[in-house]
Amino acid sequence: MAQQYKALIGGEWVDSSTGAQFEVLNPANGQVVGTAPLCGKAEVDKAVEAALEAAPGWAATPVGQRSKVLLKAAQLIMARQEELAILETQQQGSPIRKTMNFDVPLCAEQLEYFAGVARSVTGQTLPVGPWCMSATVKEPLGVVGIITPWNFPALMVVWKLGAAVVMGNACVVKPTSVAPLTTLKLGEIFQEAGAPAGVVNVITGPGNTVGEALVSHPGVQKIGFTGDTATGKQIMNVASAHVKQVGLELGGKNAFVVLADADVDAAVQGAVFAGFFNSGQVCAAASRFFVHKSLYEEFCGKFVAEVSKLRYGDPMNPETVLGPVAYMEHRDKIESYIETTKRDGARLLLGGERSNIPEIRDGAFVGPTIFADCTPDMKIMQDEIFGPVVAVTPFDSTEEAIAGVNSSPYGLCASLWTKNVSGGLALAGQIKTGTVWINEHLMIFCETPWGGCKQSGWGKDLSTMVLEEYVMTKHIYVDLTGQPEKPWYAILK
Ligand code: NDP
Repeated sequence: MAQQYKALIGGEWVDSSTGAQFEVLNPANGQVVGTAPLCGKAEVDKAVEAALEAAPGWAATPVGQRSKVLLKAAQLIMARQEELAILETQQQGSPIRKTMNFDVPLCAEQLEYFAGVARSVTGQTLPVGPWCMSATVKEPLGVVGIITPWNFPALMVVWKLGAAVVMGNACVVKPTSVAPLTTLKLGEIFQEAGAPAGVVNVITGPGNTVGEALVSHPGVQKIGFTGDTATGKQIMNVASAHVKQVGLELGGKNAFVVLADADVDAAVQGAVFAGFFNSGQVCAAASRFFVHKSLYEEFCGKFVAEVSKLRYGDPMNPETVLGPVAYMEHRDKIESYIETTKRDGARLLLGGERSNIPEIRDGAFVGPTIFADCTPDMKIMQDEIFGPVVAVTPFDSTEEAIAGVNSSPYGLCASLWTKNVSGGLALAGQIKTGTVWINEHLMIFCETPWGGCKQSGWGKDLSTMVLEEYVMTKHIYVDLTGQPEKPWYAILK
């Protein structure tokens, strides 16, 4: 029988007040991986109360001690690497070679990074005048709500939870309902690593009830959210009633621009990674490929040849590089985009049909799909499909390509492929996205800030910048004149 998980509230493992559970399904075969508590508003209230109780003590804990909890959690993650990787693969479909070698080790590395850099977060002394001491200090916000998506279920939690916890906040995490189980394991790991009861709470259940109750709870100071732009807008609406801070890492429709002087082979290798890593279920994935006319057919031919080599199938097979997408309804949505794009008249270069191989046919599999000759009016050039489906389009002039890149309402990231790096740098300044790569795509590190502009949201994950997202800057002013009446009081006389 599938394991029944519990929620973590105030250091206790609990069922929902109704006792109801929901199933978490393996997208490769539809089998139940486990069940999680179907929490509701009652659990949100309890979790926020527990966090409110824990927050002052945790804020008063020296940062060095808080860092040690993260370092211990990192060790425990690596000690349970295989267990976490298998669970992540089972609940989300990402191939085991990726969850083992990428997701889980990166969770640990990210916590180590936060544990280090948090210790050098400082305020400033401000050069106001000799008559005072004026300084800023960084204080935790209090209780932070964290709401995360299904594409990298554990990693997306760690990005926010690690930063919020090390900066002295108590957190209530609401993971995706598609793949919440590794987040519950992370709760267990933080507890074992020494996070006091109530500092890390994990509650599971639907976004439109549990998530919304968390966003609207007056005890929550900030929401850290990664997910769909439409959900981000709803969260902003609900949060506005309390003038609550929100950090929003939302969708993208990211461009990959191959300029006339690009190294085509390097661009093709980069394109395979940019378009198909994690089956394209990456906010940073490239999905619009703008290729200069002089290289267009060569690029298309080589791109198709390289993508055709990707082995897809059973994600538990260590040879597999593309597993299923995260759940059946998502597969159906991606397939409907494929059908729309065919009707719109794009040239199908690869994929586009459901496989008949039995192990694939019954799971949420979508083969890598490439469309060429896509035009700006097509849905495939506008909507975030969030799957292994990409659009290629030719351009004549660099100006036309940059205008195409910037025509999207999203502004997450883009890449430029060129042998003229200084020319590329000048163009990077014209692109309206949070990140621009030159001769690379998808390079995201602990040390580099991550977050977009326009409808891709605001605020940053990663780097030292994320630490600022989870503190308040307070100004403290101390009079040093020692005089009862200062010269500037004269203005009231
Ligand atoms: P969703 O927005 O559907 O869900 C994200 C989270 O929000 C889930 O935990 C969900 O809960 C919850 N949620 C849903 N409705 C509400 C609500 N009304 N109030 C509060 N919480 C709510 O996104 P997906 O999980 O489908 O993730 C895919 C999207 O995330 C893509 O568009 C992708 O681009 C974006 N993304 C962006 C990243 C970035 O860094 N910019 C990184 C990763 C993904 P439940 O699961 O229960 O519905």
